[in-house]
Amino acid sequence: MVKKIIVTGGSGMVGMSLKDIILDKNIWLFLSSKDCDLTKIDAVDSLFNKEKPDYVIHLAANVGGLFKNMRERTAMFRDNVRINENILEACNNHGVQRGIFCLSSCIFPYKPSKYPMDESMIHESEPHPSNEGYGYSKRMMEMQCRNYNEQFGREYICIIPVNLYGPYDNFNLNDSHVIPGLIHRFYNAKKNNTDLEMYGSGTPLRQFVHSYDIAEIIMKILNEYKETKPIICCNDEITIKDLTYLVGKLSDYDTNKITSDTSKSDGCLRKSVDGNYFNEIFSDFKYRSLEEGIKQTIEWFNENYDKCRK
Ligand code: NAP
Ligand code: GDP
Repeated sequence: MVKKIIVTGGSGMVGMSLKDIILDKNIWLFLSSKDCDLTKIDAVDSLFNKEKPDYVIHLAANVGGLFKNMRERTAMFRDNVRINENILEACNNHGVQRGIFCLSSCIFPYKPSKYPMDESMIHESEPHPSNEGYGYSKRMMEMQCRNYNEQFGREYICIIPVNLYGPYDNFNLNDSHVIPGLIHRFYNAKKNNTDLEMYGSGTPLRQFVHSYDIAEIIMKILNEYKETKPIICCNDEITIKDLTYLVGKLSDYDTNKITSDTSKSDGCLRKSVDGNYFNEIFSDFKYRSLEEGIKQTIEWFNENYDKCRK
């Protein structure tokens, strides 16, 4: 019987979304960096000695949008390699048999042999230079999970979500991903009656999944997935321009006042991934629509403006 499940990154967007949907709360432990700095192996070892988890959901990471990844290149690699390596080693040393490990579609090649990319293409060629550090750190985690599974018979499963958004996201204007960044900037532009600059050309394509959808998917994979092969979780593609107008419309902003700042980076132009493998196994799962998800996230941001990360 499972007595304890540890969630690293339990104070982040995905961790908090998971906390909102779970039922048997007494067996779960949601950790923040204040409980344990996962870059420190001794601290991680003490944590596992004390808590003795049966399963681990590993979400903790140094995370950020395009502009943070470009600015903090070395830390995005170093922190994430350390965190991931410490967690994996502790899981194996302390007998954790099963776990979920979170990758990202950012780690895929930016010049792939085909679109959409599937699970077999993670290491095909290099990730986009804008998130090379983060990308390689996550690729190394995929390699280590695979090797723990082969060498020690573990079930360490890598999930590969596309861009995520939702309640509890980081709305900081310098560090955030595109959706929370736009929500916050439309909020300011409305309040100050100013124009809104879309960053870049607007042509890049992205896929988005709501944080409550990924939380549900994590539960399904933990409880039902019989394989250990990495699994992509994705929704449809949209251009950054269409996304910007959608967030503007849902923010009740006059979209005629949207301009663009093409001096800002576009990042990767396309990172389209293929959800067929997931859809075949979990054919009953329905992703919520982007419109519905963004509307709910804007409401959450407005209601939690004073206390959210920004
Ligand atoms: P997030 O909101 O930024 O949360 C990050 C979490 O990691 C926080 O709980 C944070 O703790 C914790 N953390 C960071 N450094 C730590 C350290 N040194 N020691 C212990 N904990 C540490 O991130 P998220 O968006 O929920 O992302 C969850 C997972 O999904 C990550 O693995 C990320 O790479 C992956 N992912 C995210 C996206 C996306 O668009 N957001 C897309 C694909 C994949 P504190 O807040 O307490 O410091
Ligand atoms: P990425 O998917 O890893 O590149 O990260 P982001 O979620 O930060 O998305 C970046 C894309 O959105 C780039 O094409 C940016 O030029 C564009 N973008 C447009 N407006 C914004 C904004 O307000 N914040 C961010 N982070 N990106 C924006």
